[in-house]
Amino acid sequence: MTWLDIHHVELRSEGGRHALENLICVCARHHRAAHRGKITIDRNEAGALRVRHADGTEYGRSVKPQALEVCAKVFSALRHLGFREAQVRAALEQLQREPALVQASFDGLLREALARLCPWRAALTVLRRPEPLFPTAVGVRQRSRRPAFRISSR
Ligand SMILES: [Zn+2]
Repeated sequence: MTWLDIHHVELRSEGGRHALENLICVCARHHRAAHRGKITIDRNEAGALRVRHADGTEYGRSVKPQALEVCAKVFSALRHLGFREAQVRAALEQLQREPALVQASFDGLLREALARLCPWRAALTVLRRPEPLFPTAVGVRQRSRRPAFRISSR
């Protein structure tokens, strides 16, 4: 016997309703893939259902497995940081439109996604890096790793 899951295209946890136009039937494997960022299920501008691989490629087209893995790992990392699925999808979708990021590493894609999700956090990350990311950041002084106070062990 095969079971189907009901999936909310606009997630229930993020305000999606139980209205019929927001519900689809998917097998358990594809349902898990959707919530793990391995595939994206949404609607296009015309309202038609759209299924894509993690890198934004139309589902069923040839893909680069490494790029899919990087996208899915970044999706997972951002979800574990507490970002909502819709936020993460929107940020990754923006990044997928940038040709320079097609070959991005996990670190690179995560950093770019964080920069879009919370620009102030990305700025802090740049300041905390041991080496400057950009030549213009050379003048930025590193914060001392030494604590500002000591706790006595007595
Ligand atoms: Zn679901």
